[in-house]
Amino acid sequence: MLIDTYGRVATDLRVSLTDRCNLRCTYCMPEEGLQWLAKPDLLSDDEIVRLVRIAVTDLGIEEVRFTGGEPLLRPGLTGIVERVAALTPRPRLSLTTNGIGLARTADALRAAGLDRVNVSLDTLRPDVFQTLTRRKRHADVLRGLAAARAAGLTPVKVNTVLMPGLNDDEAPDLLAWAVENDYELRFIEQMPLDAQHGWQRDGMVTAGDILASLRTRFTLTPEDSAERGSAPAERWIVDGGPHRVGVIASVTRPFCRACDRTRLTADGQIRTCLFATEETDLRAALRSDAPDAEIARRWKLAMWGKKAGSGLDDPAFLQPERPMSAIGG
Ligand code: SF4
Repeated sequence: MLIDTYGRVATDLRVSLTDRCNLRCTYCMPEEGLQWLAKPDLLSDDEIVRLVRIAVTDLGIEEVRFTGGEPLLRPGLTGIVERVAALTPRPRLSLTTNGIGLARTADALRAAGLDRVNVSLDTLRPDVFQTLTRRKRHADVLRGLAAARAAGLTPVKVNTVLMPGLNDDEAPDLLAWAVENDYELRFIEQMPLDAQHGWQRDGMVTAGDILASLRTRFTLTPEDSAERGSAPAERWIVDGGPHRVGVIASVTRPFCRACDRTRLTADGQIRTCLFATEETDLRAALRSDAPDAEIARRWKLAMWGKKAGSGLDDPAFLQPERPMSAIGG
């Protein structure tokens, strides 16, 4: 298993399938986009499936989440999902997406074995969406969400980042909309993972701000902490239930003590943490015909060295070189 020196065991694998994206969210990348990873450096579909197979059959991974950039841009996505769903033991499969194109692909992904989706949506207002993402695709995301629910990719979770002066007034409206549409809403604190390195701690909307705003319209009751387990989202029961709302507060309420995540990048690097500044290269081992056991050994070694946490509270904190768009959620 993938254990670290703090006794945490990674059972949740996040796989970034591409660093490319069809949105330009202001808190993630510049308008012109980024220098994308070179094609030869990207793992092939076969290489991804082999690494996930080793993780599931030899290293105790129980959950696989496909991310990006935008994973729906990966041409072989459905095939990858199908082959991973056929593994024994069968891992739980989810996808984090911006929802563009989901209306077209939800049924096929469900049939391939995908269990559920997280869709990013930061606003109910098309004009604010355009300001935040620099694209006019708000309606596509709403269609994608409805298609995911209709296809049975449930619970459909919605990830929202609030930005001061842009959409930070929308928290109660977003929750009312999510309750009405039976989506599970989670607010995510903005993290220092943007390509522009423009993040400011005093310029972000905190969990405290979000909860205070929600409480102007809803009664929120903390969920029993035992129910949280290693999940990143802290959850509250909305107006006595059944709906929940979550807050992922990596900055102000870190949850690293129970972290069970390990990450694989689209170019074959292992990241022990979202904020890791070092990576372990498995692509070179793959392409030099290393046996499964050797790849598993390197993966274990990498996780054994996982740091206690993000280091965000450390005055010496260094933002990772690799931006969020090339790490994935
Ligand atoms: S910051 Fe790193 S250690 Fe903490 S929960 Fe996230 S991935 Fe895990």
